[in-house]
Amino acid sequence: MPASPPIYVTQPDLPPLETFLPYLQQIWDSRALTNGGSFHRQFEQALAEYLGVPHVSLFTNGTLALVTALQSLRIAGEVITTPYSFVATAHSLMWNGIKPVFADIDPVTLNIDPAKIEALITPQTTAIMPVHCYGTPCDVDAIQRIADDYNLKVIYDAAHAFGIRRQDGGSVLTHGDLSVLSFHATKVFNTFEGGAIISPDARSKQRIDHLKNFGFVNETTVVATGINGKMSEFNAALGLLQLQHVGRAIERRAEVERRYREHLADVPGLSMLQEPAGVTRNHSYFPVMVGPGFPVARDALYQRLRDAGILVRRYFYPLISEFSMYRSLPSARPDLLPVAHEAARQVLCLPIYPALTQADQDRVIDLIKG
Ligand SMILES: *Cc1c(COP(=O)(O)O)cnc(C)c1O
Repeated sequence: MPASPPIYVTQPDLPPLETFLPYLQQIWDSRALTNGGSFHRQFEQALAEYLGVPHVSLFTNGTLALVTALQSLRIAGEVITTPYSFVATAHSLMWNGIKPVFADIDPVTLNIDPAKIEALITPQTTAIMPVHCYGTPCDVDAIQRIADDYNLKVIYDAAHAFGIRRQDGGSVLTHGDLSVLSFHATKVFNTFEGGAIISPDARSKQRIDHLKNFGFVNETTVVATGINGKMSEFNAALGLLQLQHVGRAIERRAEVERRYREHLADVPGLSMLQEPAGVTRNHSYFPVMVGPGFPVARDALYQRLRDAGILVRRYFYPLISEFSMYRSLPSARPDLLPVAHEAARQVLCLPIYPALTQADQDRVIDLIKG
């Protein structure tokens, strides 16, 4: 019997190829490939409407968007952030010459614990960079209160928070000074590679748009050491088309999550994250915590699934604070980050994507149940 193809933790959702061909034809006809062409403008507008946010600046990827968001607000010195994230969160600080200061996380949401922030503030602190981990919104009110008290900026790494709204219909992406999205292939909404900054006003957007184009403000004037962060017409055209499908994709993901919750509810030693109240979800990840009451250790379960061709991932192990360029920071000491370390030791992200079949999901569930 031929080995069945591996099941990855996610599989990018793509529209039918033939529906993309007219977009490509238009790009070929116009010879406009980048530099704020027609698809770039259309996608920025359509995305702002879809997300319910005032201003969008498209980027080549989420990491350059994070780097530019910090630069646009002239953030320097120290920034308080979470160790429980993808490494790009802290890397974006380093690219701006900023020292990351890690705060421990909340055991329920796995987001930065607002109660841990204040003690880390020094005269060098200029901002807080929280992450809406797995799409669970941070305690945005508590974070904003601290930011107001100490005159700090807040830049949200919202790479997981595509489309998330509060009960009143407002976007979670309008909190803080700026929010940053990623449209990487592995994210809930993809443009192959891509990213965006959400800004509250036209002035902030304009500065960001200059910075993503080398700092040019007109043909002959460069006002800052900007970067090349512009999204191409290819990616923008795909994004425009993907917007038509993402709603359905999120619904399918919700069904996958519902089945996991139903079938894994009573597995001893295995716990699932609480579903956040008062917000819509995008079901971008399905993490489970393999606790001491589970028959085998997390890494044994990880290996059992991998051996069966199910390529689960341990997001976020190792913690950012454990990587060599961060581990010697005073705030990276493991005894100061006990909750983050426990989560990193226990977490396992299970496959979740629109095309995951029930049969494949049942295999995952059966393997977990041993
Ligand atoms: C994916 C991700 C990024 C980086 O986005 P790219 O588009 O891959 O550069 C940053 N932060 C978090 C939390 C992410 O998950």
